[in-house]
Amino acid sequence: QGKTYQFKLVLLGESAVGKSSLVTRFVKDHFDEYRESTIGAAFLAQTISLDDNTTVKFEIWDTAGQERYKSLAPMYYRGANCAVIVYDITQTSSLDKAKSWVDELQRQADPDIVIALAGNKTDLEARRAIDTKAKYADEAGLLFFETSAKTAHNVTELFTAIAKRMPLE
Ligand code: GDP
Ligand code: MG
Repeated sequence: QGKTYQFKLVLLGESAVGKSSLVTRFVKDHFDEYRESTIGAAFLAQTISLDDNTTVKFEIWDTAGQERYKSLAPMYYRGANCAVIVYDITQTSSLDKAKSWVDELQRQADPDIVIALAGNKTDLEARRAIDTKAKYADEAGLLFFETSAKTAHNVTELFTAIAKRMPLE
């Protein structure tokens, strides 16, 4: 039997970029076109088995993006081992918001936190407003994926890359 490692993961990003949808795709492999927006934060867990017989269990805190919940965010990212910061490739303002979360985490969160940037809604390619941000992510030391919670594009890949980046001693 391999070992199991447990990590706390927080999702951050502007409202309606698809944070809850990414978690629902990852945990339940399901997508709702009409989902209720998150109030406060929601908790879910999911495990990933890596090739080397280790298991990574993520305890996922899916936060609400609305400005009125902003003061609660430190409660969720303090003590987080990893974070997924989400923007919507069709909404320019959502990338500015994502970058401000990256800055805040790099200043205030655990210095060892693993941060992934996710440009969501790749199924809406025709409405794309933001070029692929690989260079920005690389320079900021982030994992980076463009994803679609709707089609499941790169969702498993995103969480697996985070699992592989975690310290498994
Ligand atoms: P959150 O506020 O960041 O948690 O965003 P939600 O997960 O609640 O999603 C907001 C809206 O965007 C909902 O109508 C979702 O159905 C839609 N949505 C989320 N992810 C995707 C995606 O990958 N593609 C498309 N086309 N719509 C998405
Ligand atoms: Mg939500």
